[in-house]
Amino acid sequence: MKFVDLDSFDYESLDDESFDYENFDYEIVRSDRKTLSIEVHHNRVKVRAPKKAPDDWIEGFVYQKAKWIARKLVEQAERHQSRLVLENGQLISVLGQPLIIRVSQGANKITLTDDEFLIRNKDLSPSSIAKQMDRWLLNYAKENLPQKVQAWSEIMGLENKLNGIRFRKTKTQWGHCTRKGVVQLNQLILLTPLYVIDYLIIHELSHLKHLNHSKRFWSLVESFCPEYIKAEAWLKQQGHSVWY
Ligand SMILES: [Zn+2]
Repeated sequence: MKFVDLDSFDYESLDDESFDYENFDYEIVRSDRKTLSIEVHHNRVKVRAPKKAPDDWIEGFVYQKAKWIARKLVEQAERHQSRLVLENGQLISVLGQPLIIRVSQGANKITLTDDEFLIRNKDLSPSSIAKQMDRWLLNYAKENLPQKVQAWSEIMGLENKLNGIRFRKTKTQWGHCTRKGVVQLNQLILLTPLYVIDYLIIHELSHLKHLNHSKRFWSLVESFCPEYIKAEAWLKQQGHSVWY
């Protein structure tokens, strides 16, 4: 089994410079057959291959089909997973704080109290509220996450390699790190538990040192985030719950 990191794989940016260090999760099943085939179901990618097919041939084939695989996984995830509903009485977690959503009509504004997430919008249609939420999340991320990233980079001794922090809501990616040292985070991470937010930041910062998902990369992650396996599991099992 190859290592799983589809969470940080952005199929939309396949052509960009960073693609070559993203890993896929796929299992190779060898049998008496002459061709390669790929199956994607239940969040798993299975490659059926001839008994003696060389690994790099299989790998090349998977990379060639990467876009298709990623799209399949996203489609399946969208079908099977429930999402965050921005409606009255629903629960939302913002930077680890559980809040109850209250929606009312009025001049567009989102306000946080100790226990409520108040959405006021002139137009209460789901698409209008989703757009409002997008804008709010991006601003809130810009206000709250850079200092966290900066603080972790200093703890990890990587502050000199960090060249910027960007936010981008993509369908398949929680975070991303460019070769130039720019850490990109999905603003939706604000809605995950605090230990997951820290993990995602540590994960991307670790790429400042290792542009891959090698053993050395993971041991660097682990040394600053002993809970990384739990965080990965949360993202796989419940990551969909922050999407709206
Ligand atoms: Zn990564």
